[in-house]
Amino acid sequence: MTGLSAAFHLTRRGIRNVVVLDKGTIASGGTGKSSACVRQHYSTAETCRMIRYSLEFFQHFAERVDGGSCGFRHTGYLLGVDDKMRKPMEASVALQRSIGIDTRLVSPVEMRELEPRLRTDDLVTGCYEAASGYCNPVETAQGFARAARAAGARILEDNAVLGLLLEGDRTRGVRTRTGDILAPVVVNAAGLWSARVAAMAGVELPIHVCRHKISIVSWPEAEQRPHPMVYDFVTNIYTRPEMGEHILVGGLDADESRDAVDPDAYKEGVSLDESTDALARVSHRFPALAEGHIARGYAGCFDVTPDWHPILDRVGPEGYYVAAGFSGHGFKLSPAVGHMVAALVAEGAKGHPDLPTFRLSRFAEGKPIRGTYGDWLMC
Ligand SMILES: Cc1cc2nc3c(=O)[nH]c(=O)nc-3n(C[C@H](O)[C@H](O)[C@H](O)COP(=O)(O)OP(=O)(O)OC[C@H]3O[C@@H](n4cnc5c(N)ncnc54)[C@H](O)[C@@H]3O)c2cc1C
Repeated sequence: MTGLSAAFHLTRRGIRNVVVLDKGTIASGGTGKSSACVRQHYSTAETCRMIRYSLEFFQHFAERVDGGSCGFRHTGYLLGVDDKMRKPMEASVALQRSIGIDTRLVSPVEMRELEPRLRTDDLVTGCYEAASGYCNPVETAQGFARAARAAGARILEDNAVLGLLLEGDRTRGVRTRTGDILAPVVVNAAGLWSARVAAMAGVELPIHVCRHKISIVSWPEAEQRPHPMVYDFVTNIYTRPEMGEHILVGGLDADESRDAVDPDAYKEGVSLDESTDALARVSHRFPALAEGHIARGYAGCFDVTPDWHPILDRVGPEGYYVAAGFSGHGFKLSPAVGHMVAALVAEGAKGHPDLPTFRLSRFAEGKPIRGTYGDWLMC
């Protein structure tokens, strides 16, 4: 997704001599398994600005991307918290509103008006974003790819990058499975494999890969109705509708980041214990799901940095760039990220005011990005 959005945005700047290489097929990495939720609840000014750009982009995807579709489904977003999380949540909402995001605080009573199936007795407050929703990640990737290709970019699938070609300290291109491709600029947008790909350039990225589990639960027949995406900072789950009669449930546990895995060899299924845990948590929040059933489960992976924010930077040899470490946010931010990477390549770090925040050196400087929730996952 990141590479395709960057390629698309480069072509929109008139830079058409772009090649996107994928060792598999488009969306065969983390993107293909993404829940593709586009909520706006962020707690730094930079990510709030990025999500505003991105949501607006998804809402007008067909106009922006030459008739492409991102499958955007408008649902609204509801987040509930207990007293422990009340202050950081309220501070985040204030920040979001100051940046123009349409969000508001809601009481437990209002939450039940918005979604009557919710249990709210252990929630003290929440917030609601009317405009948020979710997309289809494969449609979105295809949309970017087709538009970039129509504008002159080449998309080469089944074509792994095996090494970086250098001339002194300058990037000269890449060695691929099918031969060398000369290019003065190389962007590493290899997602789960980005640290491995960076090593080819002698660059060490503080990114590790962890497993992220999804359970798809069937609603009892009498309860099958649309609902907002519900995020729950008490049981630490997120949910969204899935194909009418199901609800998708993902974890928001910091613990997941300790489940480090090899992206080429990890448990892609979800065990009985894991799905039982997901069902218990979601039926706590939606009591009607005590009668629900696990329909399906799968796991994908996140590429996680120490502060759960991406790296967007020029690093290592001249002409070498990194856009990786999306830590579970890379779908919803992808339009803004593509826009920023195109600016970085075309104009350098001054090309976009928020780029310096995402520099790699912040980790060595001891200045990780910290939002209202401190280092708590995903916000
Ligand atoms: C289960 C799950 C749920 C998620 N839910 C959400 C969500 O609700 N909202 C959200 O915003 N984000 C979500 N995410 C995260 C989001 O999907 C990712 O951050 C995003 O899709 C990453 O896109 P990417 O292009 O950076 O990486 P990837 O999709 O991993 O793409 C990287 C590509 O690089 C290719 N590649 C790797 N090595 C090489 C090589 N040597 N040569 C050539 N090609 C190579 C791979 O084949 C791959 O296609 C979720 C992720 C998962 C797994």
